[in-house]
Amino acid sequence: MTANLLDFDLEGLAAFCETLGEKRFRATQLYRWIHQRGARNFDQMSDLAKSLRAKLQGVARIEGLPVISQHESADGTIKWLFDVGQGNAVEAVFIPEDDRGTLCVSSQAGCAVGCRFCSTGHQGFARNLSTGEIVAQLWFAEHFLRQHLQTQERVISNVVMMGMGEPLQNYAALVPALRTMLDDHGYGLSRRRVTVSTSGVVPMMDRLGQDCPVALAVSLHAPTDALRDSLVPINRKYPLAELLDACKRYLVHAPRDFITFEYCMLDGVNDQAEHAQALIDLVRRHGGQGVACKFNLIPFNPFPQSGLRRSPQPQVLAFAKLLSDAGIVTTVRKTRGDDIDAACGQLAGDVRDRTQVVVRIARQRNLNPMPATATGQA
Ligand code: SF4
Repeated sequence: MTANLLDFDLEGLAAFCETLGEKRFRATQLYRWIHQRGARNFDQMSDLAKSLRAKLQGVARIEGLPVISQHESADGTIKWLFDVGQGNAVEAVFIPEDDRGTLCVSSQAGCAVGCRFCSTGHQGFARNLSTGEIVAQLWFAEHFLRQHLQTQERVISNVVMMGMGEPLQNYAALVPALRTMLDDHGYGLSRRRVTVSTSGVVPMMDRLGQDCPVALAVSLHAPTDALRDSLVPINRKYPLAELLDACKRYLVHAPRDFITFEYCMLDGVNDQAEHAQALIDLVRRHGGQGVACKFNLIPFNPFPQSGLRRSPQPQVLAFAKLLSDAGIVTTVRKTRGDDIDAACGQLAGDVRDRTQVVVRIARQRNLNPMPATATGQA
């Protein structure tokens, strides 16, 4: 089996080249051809010696992911569904804005965390993606978009690891992929423009801070352990106090001086004034000085099995105002690509239900009824 060169960060590629008796600068040349110029085969690499190209043909390949479908929204958002084999698919979404181009990337086929409001969580877990499969989403999207938009300039300026999967439960593959995103010979993105989003895998937050401190977003979604236990099951293992301690530790290394808390607005569940007040108390008072943070309020993308509803827009705005009035920077995520179901996990959710996760979630809900403020639950 030949090695897929998308699996390597620059260090890994240098080590691979050494096994072929090649110097490190050859790895840099190769890496730039692949990631900066989008080369798909060794024949394109005109400044590499023919003998090296011939050697590479026998031992290496550059293999992306087959595209199952591509949907382009009226607002310019593009969503790709990639085939990762055995009936599994993952998605990546490009979101163009005036001052940036953001790619949302998947880290796993399915997800084991099982958040109640998440379509991916309801599919269960199939497998971790390899480094090459994570990088392939960026490699394909960047070079497709350059052609599509007829530009030689870089199109993707930001990457968010917010597609399918919990990135910190696929840590070994994630970190080399992040390094390729950051490497000046790769995609050259700044640490502030690469964001890992986690549901709160506390030990891995600490490791990420040591190994590759990029911007961090935490899926919070609830101000109390009782409510978060029922929405984000990993909270039972790493409850809020531990999670916020980990956020504070991460800030020592973080490229930004705040953590972004993601908060999916669920009608009657977590969107009331008392929830906002509890959140303010939580992030302000934790550990004495609180946690430096921003809030990003996310409109819920309803799907039938969730039994949940999207909060009405006036409720979202009222909630945002309460946080803002308390001095917490708060944004409301624009819904983009609604006409192509471009929210996290939405399309791939139609592909396959892999496990008994729906049964498990239903069981949890019976064991852990929502608190009294939660209305509108199935
Ligand atoms: S929100 Fe993220 S961590 Fe939770 S189930 Fe969905 S993909 Fe997994």
